[in-house]
Amino acid sequence: MEELVEQPSIRPSSSNESKNEAIVYEGQLERVFKGRRPRILSGMRPTGKLHIGHWAGALESWVGLQEVADNFFFIADYHALTTKLDSTDITQLSLEMMTDWIAFGIDPERSPIFRQSKVKQHTELFLILAMLITKARLERNPAVKDQVRDLGIGEQMMTYGHLGYPVLMAADILLYKGDLVPVGEDQVPHIEITREFARKFNEHYQAARGNVFTEPKAYITKYARLPGLDGRRMSKSLGNTISLSDSEDDTWNKMRKAVTDPAKVRKGDPGTPEICLVFTYHNKWNPDGVEEIRQGCSSGSLGCVDCKKKITEKLNEAFRPAREKRRELEARPEFILEVLNQGETKARTAAEETMSEVREAMKFG
Ligand code: SF4
Repeated sequence: MEELVEQPSIRPSSSNESKNEAIVYEGQLERVFKGRRPRILSGMRPTGKLHIGHWAGALESWVGLQEVADNFFFIADYHALTTKLDSTDITQLSLEMMTDWIAFGIDPERSPIFRQSKVKQHTELFLILAMLITKARLERNPAVKDQVRDLGIGEQMMTYGHLGYPVLMAADILLYKGDLVPVGEDQVPHIEITREFARKFNEHYQAARGNVFTEPKAYITKYARLPGLDGRRMSKSLGNTISLSDSEDDTWNKMRKAVTDPAKVRKGDPGTPEICLVFTYHNKWNPDGVEEIRQGCSSGSLGCVDCKKKITEKLNEAFRPAREKRRELEARPEFILEVLNQGETKARTAAEETMSEVREAMKFG
């Protein structure tokens, strides 16, 4: 999920869109689940410290979902191998990411956090599901083609792991009997494959209680894909991010170098805020002041330095408590490990329940 689920795109819900059985849009939970708390499975590949794009694209939504759903949050460390074979730092990256999750609002008491590699049932179910899909079907999956293109590796370098990525993702989801999976719209084909797996397994194998799997749905939120400080896709590898854990000074030092409307060279020049990434950040973190920024930029009365100072203040204000909490958590690594241990125990219990049904249905006694 690059990021299993990182950075969904903006897509307001409409009555037409809700006709797709495989998709639930933000704001439709109550209607679809009729008061029942759905189970949600969300994951990210461990990339270390998270940046503000992760927050806007996924984490903020995850935090809110804890109020209305039962969540499992997993660190997709096996999935990380599809983009980075060197796993020397995988544990450190996983712990860094998890520290951000907790500092910024994931409550591990309510929502177990675990590493995919520590719940062996993921690979067991992956193997079984792999028997239920053809190579041709996997090759037709547009999301895999997009991933290979994004990685710049070409079809010749595509591994069995790349092709089988949706199979492992389906195992991740079905193992916890997730009702919903927050994904970007480009990831919906993965959810459709997962639904096919559920149907196919149920057709072939029945447990004493009937169907083992239910068909999960994609959950699409309205959160934005934020541009990086240079206007390109925000990515740590491009060096254009602001980390959630950056100090307030670092936040300013990065923001002041952000690319702006090239036509606005100095204060007094009229700018076009709609093409400026700083304005995108104002939209997200300064909704009450965004009109003033728009007018100031367009008229020229607002200079870019002042505009960047304002958004830096807003960002620092919004993240101050979480950054403080993160510093406290960093000083308590044993706590993070204990939380992970507890989450992994809960996840293994849930996963084993499902696998017991799977083995029973398949007559693996
Ligand atoms: S004033 Fe603000 S919105 Fe306008 S170009 Fe400068 S940084 Fe961008």
